[in-house]
Amino acid sequence: MLKGKTALVTGSTSGIGLGVARALAAQGASLMLNGFGEASAIEALRAGLERDFGVTVHYNGADLSKPDGAGGLVRDAEARLGRLDILVNNAGIQHVAPVEEFPLERWDAVIALNLTAVFQGIRAALPGMKTRGWGRIVNIASVHGLVASVNKAAYVAAKHGVLGLTKVVALETAEIDVTCNAICPGWVLTPLVQAQIDARAVREGVSIEQAGRDLLSEKQPSKSFTTPEQLGALAVFLCSPAAANMTGASLTADGGWTAQ
Ligand code: NAD
Repeated sequence: MLKGKTALVTGSTSGIGLGVARALAAQGASLMLNGFGEASAIEALRAGLERDFGVTVHYNGADLSKPDGAGGLVRDAEARLGRLDILVNNAGIQHVAPVEEFPLERWDAVIALNLTAVFQGIRAALPGMKTRGWGRIVNIASVHGLVASVNKAAYVAAKHGVLGLTKVVALETAEIDVTCNAICPGWVLTPLVQAQIDARAVREGVSIEQAGRDLLSEKQPSKSFTTPEQLGALAVFLCSPAAANMTGASLTADGGWTAQ
């Protein structure tokens, strides 16, 4: 369905971004991967996607928390893929602390990657999308774009910002075939969440398995994790003709978290 299209997925060396990149490649899109990791592991990932799906896959390890990191990445994707049709803003980090103990340096780092880089990537990608008259922007936000949790001031502020930005971009592109939507996952078992489960196990003196069960039952009524594969399928849907008139939307995949 996406044969001939090109896509950039930020933070796609792990977790949700990798799930989305695989799903887009499976539909025939050529890719630009981004994110951190061992050079040999990333090369194996890149070559594996090319082999499995018969598409071209590039990699650029830009640090998107740096000024113009996201803009430079988009320009490199356009140069190496020929143009950029699909932009998935996924790279993100977390820091957990009460507001009065939240280090300013961590606040700045979370806002820089989870919000400012999304703005910079979109700003760089839009001119090409507008010129060609087609584009799909998918922002991986969070349930924390819609509701809050304690100790996540920077993350919750950034994700609420991403939903606001998604709506502005949707309005500014409403009359052309460019859409901008957000996906709001609940808990997904990725390295980002595993770190929170591990910290919880230590804090509460329980096993890692028990800490995972406790984490889920606190917020996510389904008591099961959303998977990167499910989120990949949702991103593919947002790039499909069926979603051509969906824009500015925030789609939850949260096991009922925000229904409570
Ligand atoms: P992850 O830690 O598994 O992956 C994050 C990716 O971003 C990795 O590829 C990492 O290398 C990359 N990255 C980190 N810092 C970067 C930087 N400065 N520049 C470029 N790339 C960088 O995390 P994940 O759980 O897959 O999260 C992906 C997105 O989904 C994030 O925006 C996160 O907020 C969001 N999210 C995650 C969950 C969850 O439960 N895991 C829930 C809701 C939303």
